[in-house]
Amino acid sequence: MKKISIIIPAYNEEESLPFLYERLEKLMNTMENYKFEILFVNDGSKDKTIQIIKELRQKDERICYVDFSRNFGKEIGMLAGLDYATGDAVIFMDADLQDPPELIPELVKYWEEGYDDVYARRSSRKGETWLKKFTSKMYYKVLQSLTRIEIQKDTGDFRLLDRRCVNALKKLRESQRCSKSMFSWIGYKKKEVIYERDPRIAGKTKWNYKKLVDLAIDGITSFTTSPLRISTYLSIPTFLMLFVYFIYVIIKCITQNVAIQAFQAVILLILFFSGVQILLFGIVGEYLGRIFNETKNRPLYFVNEYNGEKEMND
Ligand code: UDP
Ligand code: MG
Repeated sequence: MKKISIIIPAYNEEESLPFLYERLEKLMNTMENYKFEILFVNDGSKDKTIQIIKELRQKDERICYVDFSRNFGKEIGMLAGLDYATGDAVIFMDADLQDPPELIPELVKYWEEGYDDVYARRSSRKGETWLKKFTSKMYYKVLQSLTRIEIQKDTGDFRLLDRRCVNALKKLRESQRCSKSMFSWIGYKKKEVIYERDPRIAGKTKWNYKKLVDLAIDGITSFTTSPLRISTYLSIPTFLMLFVYFIYVIIKCITQNVAIQAFQAVILLILFFSGVQILLFGIVGEYLGRIFNETKNRPLYFVNEYNGEKEMND
């Protein structure tokens, strides 16, 4: 029997958990051909979240938990989930029932058809403000234009990952994580499933605009180092202006037969030295980008399939 681990990061979710368990239990009863493990990652909650999880575990041994020593953030919670999950596939889900468990059979169906990463794309975002929708749309446009890796739009973390993806993701151990870019980065066979994202069942969202801005910056910096090139590109118009103004001054001096004036020389010098400075920043940025990528210490590739004589361990 195949085993599926449902990983649920939870931070102050005491109000949602009873509803969540009820829905999950119903679902697990309908999927008798699979073994389940519900792995909560309690991310340093300050309310009764962990007590409720412990009570649930006494009732139902499919419930497991990892209890963090403090709040480490959802991204790290997800990594811990991957580390501790024992299933042949894992499913990431939020604790607030915004990701309907009823979609799981469909995710599993595609997994059985051979897809490694079945991700849920939301068709609507109920309960979210116009501003949040708009900013997120613009953000993904910018992000995609900055990177060659394909970014999945309107996709959260609700997805099913085959064991192969889990093992791959576990090898990406950078501390400032952006799971979204990692899901894209590891590759493997992906499949999209459309769903309607429900509003939060209870409690309050843990996000505020500051956290969202942090997340956006994390997103950009983890998908790409191209912001470091801004400086290199900025030096081009500066040198262009220098060149044009230089020609203009020379021509003026020759045709009108006058010496170069002090203010013209100053403008030329300013343009020249700011151009040089901006360019040097860009060069430093280039190397910084390389160091940044090397320090992530990621594996260089993942293999989909190998057919040959070499013996593989995992
Ligand atoms: N979460 C977490 N640690 C945090 C913040 C959030 O584990 O520091 C969990 C939270 O309990 C929930 C999921 O991440 O299960 C998504 O959080 P939330 O619903 O607040 O975000 P939103 O759906 O509004 O983006
Ligand atoms: Mg939510």
